[in-house]
Amino acid sequence: MQKIDFAGLMRLAQASAATGAPCACTLVPLAAWTALPLSLERRSLEEIGTLIDDPYEEPTFAECHPAGTRYDSPDAPIAPRFYPYNRCTVARCILCGRHYLLYNEAGGYFTEWRIRALRPELLVDAQP
Ligand SMILES: [Zn+2]
Repeated sequence: MQKIDFAGLMRLAQASAATGAPCACTLVPLAAWTALPLSLERRSLEEIGTLIDDPYEEPTFAECHPAGTRYDSPDAPIAPRFYPYNRCTVARCILCGRHYLLYNEAGGYFTEWRIRALRPELLVDAQP
């Protein structure tokens, strides 16, 4: 899958922000990380690229919260080099063209697909 760099991610985020059309994918709030809702079927999402740098290297679990946000804050920065963005793929809604980040959260006893809307105002190119 194609690696999406920061400039590319910003372009996709800006394209999403410019999409005004109502769509089934906006019925559930996805501003913060959320378990992939059943209403948002996987087949309406097309994976178009990845933020994973090197598939052979374990990406950092450090999170980026310079302003005191938390993992599940709706205004938490989207920092591609930090957790969990560094293991995300980028998916596009095939119905409206909005872009989302997706990753598989693997806990001790479960795995769960999580999704977050890609918003340009939250993107930061911070280094771990
Ligand atoms: Zn949509």
